[in-house]
Amino acid sequence: MQKAQGMNRREFLKVGVAGTASALIAGDALAETVQRLVAEPFAFPKPVYRTLGRTGLKVTVISFGAMLTPEAEVIRLAINNGVNYVDTARRYMGGRNEEIVGQAIKGRREKVYIATKTQPASRTKDEIIKDVETSLSKLGTDYIDVIQLHNLESSERIFVAETKEALLKLKEQGKVRFFGVTTHKNEAIVLNALVDDKDRFFDTALVAYNFKSGKEIGAAIERAAKAGVGIIAMKTQQGGYSTSALGTISPHQAALKWALQNPYITNAIPGMKDMAQLKEDIAVMGMKFTAQDEHILKRYNAAIAPFYCSFCGKCESACPYGVEISNVNRSLMYAEGYRSGELALSTYREIPIAASAAVCANCPACTAHCVNDLDIAAKMERARIILA
Ligand code: SF4
Ligand code: SF4
Repeated sequence: MQKAQGMNRREFLKVGVAGTASALIAGDALAETVQRLVAEPFAFPKPVYRTLGRTGLKVTVISFGAMLTPEAEVIRLAINNGVNYVDTARRYMGGRNEEIVGQAIKGRREKVYIATKTQPASRTKDEIIKDVETSLSKLGTDYIDVIQLHNLESSERIFVAETKEALLKLKEQGKVRFFGVTTHKNEAIVLNALVDDKDRFFDTALVAYNFKSGKEIGAAIERAAKAGVGIIAMKTQQGGYSTSALGTISPHQAALKWALQNPYITNAIPGMKDMAQLKEDIAVMGMKFTAQDEHILKRYNAAIAPFYCSFCGKCESACPYGVEISNVNRSLMYAEGYRSGELALSTYREIPIAASAAVCANCPACTAHCVNDLDIAAKMERARIILA
């Protein structure tokens, strides 16, 4: 059996193409699984749509997470083959990601909905308006379909009048159409606050959601969706870690299918860096989650358990120094799972130094305990070594 450890996702896929059969799934079932990944010439599937909550937008269940895509051509090919929702952000690739998306949508703006995000630190009316105007210029468009407040970790920002004023002004000017939020941490709290907001101001929520997500998040997603909030799933691949535990089989399709079997999820935005990832992910459109997929995910889950943090933040109150353990771990995941040093560093640098892993160097003993039994002190040390 060939090893995939240490390879990027594309190389892992190549191993899947050339590798020998694994004992994980027997006979024809395995052959079918591998063939789905490698069938050439590749035929793009018929687009499958769901409605994004009260926005009424009909979006493809597999949408495009552009965060790490360096080539506009990959995004363009997806759009030409029916993918009609692309997610980017002001801060990805130091601002270049929006320009890449802009190149991709040139001449085909009407075929695609664009979602982007304000800068995580932007709070004032002027900052939010400036963020959006910069995004419009980078994207080369007159309007953004969904503007999202980036990375909410509590309910607080949902109720800020100044934020709503800024967004409403942008909407009146025709510069944005719908409002959204994104969240990786305390997602249930954020989602419930969207519903409890008497204005019901925000139309969409981009949430980290995968086969490891707890019931609390599932329930909050259902409640928000029933209240008309369009729910978009991210981090569906549980970090995208490569592992040799599955032999030649990639877990990514199974992970995507798992997220989409939830009817309250409108679409998923897997990050697609290149053509191989695009084909692998887009092929899921119209596929059902099967018993084989469940088996694959079980094995994948066991293999990556020593690395994976769900960003629940439940360990943080036990740290006397206020280290943002979940955000440090998210930065680490971008380095080790996504293999994007740039994203890992930019995320890590958003953490105040006084709450970063640097603090742990002087801590006599780690008192924070992980609900998933991760070795927090070791993770913080690793973050210090590779991200400091
Ligand atoms: S080692 Fe643990 S308890 Fe100590 S500062 Fe770091 S996270 Fe907090
Ligand atoms: S280290 Fe564990 S407890 Fe802390 S945020 Fe991650 S999964 Fe939750």
